[in-house]
Amino acid sequence: MNLVNFRFETGADGVALLTWDMPERSMNVITPEVMNELEQVVDKVASDAAIKGCVIASGKSAFSGGADLTMLQQGAAQYARALKEQGEEAANRLFLENARRLSLLYRKLETCGKPFAIAIHGVCLGGAFELALACHYRVMADDDKTKVGLPEIKVGLFPGAGGTQRVARIMQTGDALQFLFRGDQVKPKAALGAKLVHEIAPKAEIVDRAKAWIVNGGKALAPWDAKDFKNPSGKVFSPTGMMIWPAANAILRRETYNNYPAARAILHAVYEGLQLPMDQALTVEARWFAHILRSKEAAAMIRSLFLSKGELEKGAHRPANVPPTNLRKIGVIGAGFMGAGVAYVSALNGLDVVLIDRDQESADKGKAVIDKLISGSVMKGRATAADKEALMARVNATADYASLKGCDLVLEAVFEDRAVKADVTKRAQDVVGGDVIFASNTSTLPITSLAETSQKAENFIGVHFFSPVEKMLLVEVIMGEKTGDRALATALDFVRIIRKTPIVVNDTRGFYANRCVLNFVREGQIMLTEGVPPAMIENVARMAGMPVGPLSLNDEVALDLGWKILCAAKKDLGEKAVDPRQERVLRYMVEEQGRFGRKNGKGFYDYPADGKKSLWPGLSALAEKQLDTDTIDIEELKHRLLVVQAVEAARTMAEGVVTDPREADVGSILGFGFAPFTGGTISYIDGMGAKAFVALCDRLAAKFGPRFEPPQLLRDMAAKGDTFYGRFMPKQKAA
Ligand code: NAD
Repeated sequence: MNLVNFRFETGADGVALLTWDMPERSMNVITPEVMNELEQVVDKVASDAAIKGCVIASGKSAFSGGADLTMLQQGAAQYARALKEQGEEAANRLFLENARRLSLLYRKLETCGKPFAIAIHGVCLGGAFELALACHYRVMADDDKTKVGLPEIKVGLFPGAGGTQRVARIMQTGDALQFLFRGDQVKPKAALGAKLVHEIAPKAEIVDRAKAWIVNGGKALAPWDAKDFKNPSGKVFSPTGMMIWPAANAILRRETYNNYPAARAILHAVYEGLQLPMDQALTVEARWFAHILRSKEAAAMIRSLFLSKGELEKGAHRPANVPPTNLRKIGVIGAGFMGAGVAYVSALNGLDVVLIDRDQESADKGKAVIDKLISGSVMKGRATAADKEALMARVNATADYASLKGCDLVLEAVFEDRAVKADVTKRAQDVVGGDVIFASNTSTLPITSLAETSQKAENFIGVHFFSPVEKMLLVEVIMGEKTGDRALATALDFVRIIRKTPIVVNDTRGFYANRCVLNFVREGQIMLTEGVPPAMIENVARMAGMPVGPLSLNDEVALDLGWKILCAAKKDLGEKAVDPRQERVLRYMVEEQGRFGRKNGKGFYDYPADGKKSLWPGLSALAEKQLDTDTIDIEELKHRLLVVQAVEAARTMAEGVVTDPREADVGSILGFGFAPFTGGTISYIDGMGAKAFVALCDRLAAKFGPRFEPPQLLRDMAAKGDTFYGRFMPKQKAA
């Protein structure tokens, strides 16, 4: 055998040990070469009488993250070539053959006649866990770092190498569907409880336990290949089946509104597959998989949520001329809602943090928030008491600016007030000097003007977090006019340490994310004034793919904040800068009714202390007329809610606020949940085509107003048939 990615040795007991350890990679992934080598190993084990069976283990610190998704992208290119050269039928056949190669290989392993056992430590996900499921025996290390799962659904795919079929033959159907739909990663005890693995053991013992199973006569027969096998939930066409399947269908629609073809395909594959013997079931799964691989949703989600996200996290926009900054200690000024969150994620990721507020009591309050957050993780078993102690020791809450000495970066999150921000900048720089990079978490004040209050504008930058900081994955890094490379590199290094995803944007009112999402919120408010029933507004937003409706979102962010921003925009930019209907809605809610949102228990919704929130009946006063709900065009409402955000994203690119379509896309999904199946605001436009998008904008603008008018850039692109990715993708990275 000619193995590069594996080591293979057979012990005196006749049990072979196959160690997966790919050279020059920190993590094992499934590639065409890995498949070739695994096939050789299966042939060898099957044909060599001296080998009793084989244990598969990993030589890395984790087992494997699964398939190399770039391989799937290449498959799409191959299909396009075959389509051109050999026609559709041949291209489809080739695509299906490629798509099911891994599935056939795993089935070969499962039916080769010799027992295979697997010893799992570290994460074992996707295609790698499907390998495990095809092995006859699975031993899992019982530690915090070890998890198994099938997360493919998160990038618009589903486990297509037997995962849907084997899981559905191991778990009760309802549980199996949940596991496949959610893509959760499961810890050892839960995996054992769900029968996803057979045994858990200390990491040092897993290989020996797997070997012992073979030595003690472990059988090379999967349960589903045994004659007396029964599905855990019985037959599909049975009284129990009839309880499961109609409900599963309804749940799928409730959760996805049919926006995610992969989720639907899972349901099909399991429903159809459970009625067939394994080999035919795998063929059914492969056909659905090939279908999904070619869906535009999967392509868009893989690009934005896997490839682009990864590239941005690795520092796609980090200036190469700045050496690594090696941050160890940071200062956070303002221990309020945001500052405490930033201090928490920093300390969680090993940074020493000086957390400053106006007085010791306020600083301590911020530290108490950190205590609460980490205690929550300890309660949930995600951190240990020792982790908590170490984290708390890294946070120095104080009112003394002298403690900032030695900080490698200082970030302020004090009140949104120029004078206060200028004051704390000065006080901090009196201690650390002007060479230490200074960041502001402002949401509305231009970075360029704040930088003027600092000693060196080139060392001043915006680092804009989203709330709640501990949950939200996106950070907007904002370049002031004079911000220099070292500030950018430092900010990106910081974001990397705290394991968030950065996008780099230029300075403008609202930066990127808030500009788009505020349009979504405003559209909901305008719909209210038009007489669209509030419940319909909320439901239509979710049907369009948004995680929550605009009214809920507005309640979470706070209506009085929206009112303040609107008043400031009117003051700075004049009457025309604000929509009179939005002004009326916010004045009514905030000034007249004192409804500030969830924070005071009343906004567009009522929030009873002891019950579920419900829409406030008083909203009907905002409707200018009563609409006949049967005449409302639902598709048009959905379009309005997405287009009003996407057209704003297009404007930010036209203005050069965002320069890279990957950032607009990733930022829109991670920052405000823009319909993930579209791949983000810009992929939504590219997916539809500039021409169709401009036509849609023009139609909406004619009916609802100039807020839908596309920028000239889009008209040019429509005329030339351009896409954002074709036009704006940085050259060296162009796919
Ligand atoms: P907050 O009121 O919860 O916290 C502000 C903190 O700053 C308070 O603890 C206050 O005591 C402290 N502070 C005020 N003056 C100070 C001074 N002179 N010296 C030291 N500390 C001082 O506000 P927040 O929601 O955390 O917002 C902070 C900043 O983050 C603002 O610029 C805001 O625009 C921005 N921001 C907020 C959000 C959000 O969702 N709340 C999101 C992104 C950015």
